[in-house]
Amino acid sequence: LTEAEQAVLDRIEQENIQFLRLQFTDILGTVKHVSIPASQAEKALTEGIYFDGSSIEGFVRIQESDMRLEPDPDTFAVIPWRDEKSGEAARLICDVIDATTGEPFVGDPRTVLKRAIARAEDMGYTLNVGPEPEFFVFEKDENGRATTTTHDAGGYFDLGPKDLASDLRREIIFNLEEMGFETEASHHEVAAGQHEIDFKYDDALTTADNIATFRSVVRATAELHDYHATFMPKPIAKVNGSGMHTHLSLFTEDGENIFHDGDDEFGLSERAKHFLGGILEHAPAITAIANPTVNSYKRLVPGYEAPVYIAWSGVNRTALVRIPAARHPAASRIELRSPDPAANPYLAIAVMLHAGLDGMEKEIEAPDPVRENIYKFDEEKREEYGIETLPENLGQAVDALEEDEVVQEALGEHVTEKFIEAKRQEFQEYNLAVSEWELDRYLEKF
Ligand code: GLN
Ligand code: MG
Ligand code: MG
Ligand code: MG
Repeated sequence: LTEAEQAVLDRIEQENIQFLRLQFTDILGTVKHVSIPASQAEKALTEGIYFDGSSIEGFVRIQESDMRLEPDPDTFAVIPWRDEKSGEAARLICDVIDATTGEPFVGDPRTVLKRAIARAEDMGYTLNVGPEPEFFVFEKDENGRATTTTHDAGGYFDLGPKDLASDLRREIIFNLEEMGFETEASHHEVAAGQHEIDFKYDDALTTADNIATFRSVVRATAELHDYHATFMPKPIAKVNGSGMHTHLSLFTEDGENIFHDGDDEFGLSERAKHFLGGILEHAPAITAIANPTVNSYKRLVPGYEAPVYIAWSGVNRTALVRIPAARHPAASRIELRSPDPAANPYLAIAVMLHAGLDGMEKEIEAPDPVRENIYKFDEEKREEYGIETLPENLGQAVDALEEDEVVQEALGEHVTEKFIEAKRQEFQEYNLAVSEWELDRYLEKF
C-alpha cells in the first residue's frame, strides 16, 4: 500500500465508514457509482473493482465490456449527509481501466483530461481552473416532481427575507466544506431562485472532480429539504440562464503564472494571448462540449449576460472571453463565459486546455479586444470587426466539432465518435418533437 492508500484505510477506520462509493463519470457527464462495503476497501485500492462497462453510456460494446475501477486515494471524502439505514459512507473518485489491456480506458472522461494535462506538463505548464457554477432551486409538486416554481423571489446579491434560500445555500456550503472544498463566494444570482457558489481554483483534475462533486452535493442537499436543484442551463424562458464561467491560467513548475505581464494593458503575456487565440479559434467546437444540450442554446442568446459572439474584452460581460482585473500576478487569467453547468467537466476542461495549447504552439494571434457592448452591434458592424457567432443550436455545434481536428484529438477517437452519435440523436429527437410554443402559435391560427 502507498502512503495515500494507507491514509484512506486509516480514515475509514477512524470515521467508522461502512460503505464506499466508487465514483466515475460517463461521457455525457453523469456521475455513476458502485457501492462496496468498507471491508473491501483494501482490495479496491490494490486490485481495483471489476464491473461491466457495457451498461454505461458511451462506454463499450457488450463483447468487450470488462472494466476495472481504480480509486484515486487523493479523492477520499466522507459524505456529510448521513443515511441512518446505511451508516457512514465515503466516496472515492476512480479511473476506469480497460481490464483486457490493463490500460486506462479511452472512453473515460477523466483519462481524456489526464491526457490534456500530460501535454501541458510536457510543455512545462500546469493549468489552474476556477469555475463559477450557477443553478436554480425549484419547488416540487405534490407528487414529488420538480416544477419551475422558484423557492424564493430574490435577485442579484439580495439578502434578508427575500432570500429564503440563504439557509439552504449555507447548508450546501457547509456540506461542501466538509468534503474539502474551499468556497470563496456565494450569492443569489440575477433570477429568482438562482444561485452561484464559487470555490477556489485548483489544478485541472482537482477542479473537474470538484465540479462533479459540487453538482451532487447541491442536488442532494436541496433534496433533503424537498427542493429540486437543477443545473439545466435555461430552465425558464426570458430569464437569465445558468452558466459556469471558467477562469483559466497556466503556471510553471515553480509556481509562476505565465499569463501575467505587468506591462500589458490587460496584464496578459504574449503566451496568454496565444492561448486566448487558440480558445477563440476553436470556440465553435468547444461549444459542443461546453454547451452539450439542446437547452444550452436557449441560454446563449443576447440580453441575459450570456455570450453569443466570439470575441474578447477587458470588462465587457457580453464577450465570450473576459479578462478579469487581477490584483496580483498570480491572479492574471482569462474567463471563458460560454460553458454551462450541464457540461461534462472533464471533457470541457480537456478541450479548453488543448485549444489553448494549440494556440500557443501555433502562435495564433488573438484578434483586437472589443471595447463596446457587442449586443448592440448590427451585422454590418460585426462584419467590420470580423466577429463570428457561437453555434446557434446543438446541431451546429456538432457540425463544428466534426470540422475541428484539434478538439477531436483532444477527446480521442472513441469519445468523439460516441459523443457525436449521442448528440446527433438528441438533436434529431428535439427536432421531431412538437412543442408547447408551436401549439400555442399555430393550432388555432391555421
Ligand atoms: N447567468 C449568466 C450566464 O448565463 C451569468 C451572470 C453572471 O454571473 N454575471 O452566463
Ligand atoms: Mg460570478
Ligand atoms: Mg454568476
Ligand atoms: Mg464570472
